[in-house]
Amino acid sequence: MNASAHIEAVFAETRRRNPAEPEFHQAVAEVLESLGPVFERHPEYADTGILERLCEPERQLIFRVPWVDDGGAVRVNRGFRVEFNSALGPYKGGLRFHPSVNLGIVKFLGFEQIFKNALTGMAIGGGKGGADFDPKGRSDGEIMRFCQSFMTELHRYLGEHTDVPAGDIGVGGREIGYLFGQYKRITNRYESGVLTGKPVGWGGSHVRTEATGYGAVYFAHEMLATRGEGFDGLRVVVSGSGNVAVYAVEKVHALGGRVVACSDSSGYLVDEDGIDLELLKEVKEVRRERISAYTEARPGASFSARGTVYDVPCDIALPCATQNELDREDAVALVKHGVRAVAEGANMPCTPAAVQIFRDAGVLFGPGKAANAGGVATSALEMQQNAARDSWTFEQTETRLAAIMRDVHAQCRDTAATYGGNADDYVLGANVAGFLRVARAMTAQGVI
Ligand code: NDP
Repeated sequence: MNASAHIEAVFAETRRRNPAEPEFHQAVAEVLESLGPVFERHPEYADTGILERLCEPERQLIFRVPWVDDGGAVRVNRGFRVEFNSALGPYKGGLRFHPSVNLGIVKFLGFEQIFKNALTGMAIGGGKGGADFDPKGRSDGEIMRFCQSFMTELHRYLGEHTDVPAGDIGVGGREIGYLFGQYKRITNRYESGVLTGKPVGWGGSHVRTEATGYGAVYFAHEMLATRGEGFDGLRVVVSGSGNVAVYAVEKVHALGGRVVACSDSSGYLVDEDGIDLELLKEVKEVRRERISAYTEARPGASFSARGTVYDVPCDIALPCATQNELDREDAVALVKHGVRAVAEGANMPCTPAAVQIFRDAGVLFGPGKAANAGGVATSALEMQQNAARDSWTFEQTETRLAAIMRDVHAQCRDTAATYGGNADDYVLGANVAGFLRVARAMTAQGVI
């Protein structure tokens, strides 16, 4: 069987065995489509069933999460953890609490995570988890009881050398605190490295909170630098207003750009003077309100519940909200407005049709598994500090993050040039570089 027939057969079989999981199929297709040149050069990977094994998680856990709400009613949610691949290290990837979470979403995120983690060059495998729990409008006490129930089941599969979750959508420092507390109570061990994204002061790392947003901006900065440009004076649009988005805004402003719009699931706001970061944090992180509350305090800003944030003209777009939020129409609008670069702070926010439009138009496009790798890389730095019972300064840690993002960017370009002839093809570069590192480790470790 030639290389492309082999890859197509694996994809067909993956779809057949994982029905009704469109996001997982999309994530697998995006990687497999890049691998033709690899299998032509390395036919031995077909003989050891690397692709078949990569597409099948090592372990998939689904469990009941019962908890009691403030009114005394019993609620039941579904928890997930997909331990996808441990060739490079303990399973590593966040937990997402959002009503849309299902097994297919967790598998897409876990699959992406394998290659992203490989790109960082660190000793971390791929995994992901979460629950179909909606934290919006829940009291602190309800969040705590939910987290405790979730961990009561999940703890038996975790460990600093086994599986190390972190945050994702709906899971921040508060939730990580409650999850860690319950893990410690059940196991009677202060195992700092079992969760990352812990608050600074009791095992957390400086820069972890900022890392994904900062990292995405560093990646975009590197992409612009290949064309002799920088952020200075550029208009930027960021989607979302959560953890990744907020710190992307902060770093863009630090580099001289101006973020003129951001969003949440209720709509988007435009502030031509540049987003006021302190106000945004106050509204979203402290008051936990809808983004429209920002405009009440800034009369010059406007809020729209119709259309998308990508209707706002910009030079750079940083999608930092959720999967498939930027579609063909959005991509056409962005290209029409002259967008120069798009870097995915979120996981798979651009649909395949949108990515194709950017590539055809010569827009620099940084895929999530490279552009947002700064978050998990800094989680790995947190694990290093925990293992050494050490704590680094903010500056020390940010220097490491910046170096890692430069290296991820360089790997993408070098690999894309080697396997496709076009260094600007970051999709090819990220997929192939990530795949090769995992495939080499899997081959060396035998058929397991
Ligand atoms: P948060 O929960 O902190 O923020 C998510 C943001 O996205 C919120 O503003 C939310 O709005 C918005 N959002 C969520 N769903 C939708 C939707 N369907 N339509 C429009 N907006 C939506 O999550 P994070 O910032 O941590 O994560 C954002 C993305 O980044 C995710 O794709 C995540 O997988 C990815 N990522 C995160 C990392 C991290 O370190 N946190 C690491 C790497 C990737 P609302 O408040 O209205 O729900």
